[in-house]
Amino acid sequence: MRAVDIIIKKRDRGELTREEIDFFVRGFVAGDIADYQAAAWAMAVVINGMTPRETTDLTLSMAQSGHILDLSGVVDIAVDKHSSGGVGDKTTLTVLPTVAACGLPVGKMSGRGLGFSGGTLDKMESIPGYRVDLSTDQFRQQLKEKGIVLCGQSMDLAPADGKLYALRDVTGTVASIPLIASSIMSKKIAGGANAIVLDVKVGRGAFMETLEAARQLSTLMEKIGELAGRKVVCVLSDMNQPLGHAVGNALEVVEAVQALHGAGPADFQEHCLHISAHMLVIAGRAKSLADGRRMAKRAIADGTAFDMFRVLVEAQGGDVSYVDDTAKFPQARLITTVASPRTGWLTQIDARVVGEAAVALGAGRSRKTDPVDHAVGLVIHHKVGDRVEQGAPLFTVHASDETKQAEARAGVLAGHAFSDAPTPALPLFYQ
Ligand code: URA
Repeated sequence: MRAVDIIIKKRDRGELTREEIDFFVRGFVAGDIADYQAAAWAMAVVINGMTPRETTDLTLSMAQSGHILDLSGVVDIAVDKHSSGGVGDKTTLTVLPTVAACGLPVGKMSGRGLGFSGGTLDKMESIPGYRVDLSTDQFRQQLKEKGIVLCGQSMDLAPADGKLYALRDVTGTVASIPLIASSIMSKKIAGGANAIVLDVKVGRGAFMETLEAARQLSTLMEKIGELAGRKVVCVLSDMNQPLGHAVGNALEVVEAVQALHGAGPADFQEHCLHISAHMLVIAGRAKSLADGRRMAKRAIADGTAFDMFRVLVEAQGGDVSYVDDTAKFPQARLITTVASPRTGWLTQIDARVVGEAAVALGAGRSRKTDPVDHAVGLVIHHKVGDRVEQGAPLFTVHASDETKQAEARAGVLAGHAFSDAPTPALPLFYQ
């Protein structure tokens, strides 16, 4: 078998066999198949798609490209959550400690920024010293001892996804239902999860722009979960505007900490309660979503959720003084607020524009080896449906240089649209 023939077959809309998929995945992980070939193949998949059978085979092949974690004996039920990617989505940072504080141990492997969407690992690395590269044994031990883990895929789990994910980020090959489904599900299967809550984002700042595409992705991931013997619940949530206010790594950690103290943007708090409730229900810790919400709210109100975040940060070598006093996070050199050019109701705060502006400011990458700047980003002060007075603060840019700052100001301003008539708020969830 030759990699080039598999690329050509997909380019010509052929259906790949399990053997061909395995050959490609194994060869890529071993380094026998070059990045440029994997990128060409990924582009062929973006353009021509994959059947559900091919997608399931790709998922299993990627999951089996490394160890499959067995968490029996560590936790009685391994629950996980995953977002399909969005702008300002710092949900994991708040939800993991919240459910762990409710007595549900959680260990999660997260990713880095992908295209315009932020990455949990990049956010957590804003905390000095925080280590994301745990071995499988460290993962198991920390989960058993502390009840919470949040790390990267550098351990030997689903290495094929780790490699492909980084390549897709910089080759325009993110937007593909089969590639997203297999990327997410391979990690979840390899991570040993028995029950998984998938937060599928829909809208301008999501990889799925329409409800139809988001439903297709959800159905596909539920099917893969079923075939792999895992319980899967998909929640379809809005990503037309950024979630919460902060977009950018350290800025988002600060907002996640606020939410752990029961403060911060209402939409973000509500989102976290809903996802936490689903995790508690799917794990059998809560009888209903209402019950799960009550448990999550209590853990936030009594401080145990924040305490759990401190436990996580400390366990992974992070400097907890930063989460105790978030003013310690380094500030960007240039911080300027843009005022509203007019009075009116906001009809749009384009999450894609905001996400791309954050990446251009340095919060994300344009090449896979680029470092990220943890201090830069944006704070969006409003939500669609808000009435804003002319001259009131619209958004704040945190930048490291003047040119990028000017571009972000102009771009994000153009991403806001107004109406003279009241406009309804966007829903938080669709399904
Ligand atoms: N999240 C993932 O883990 N993978 C993708 O491909 C997209 C979002």
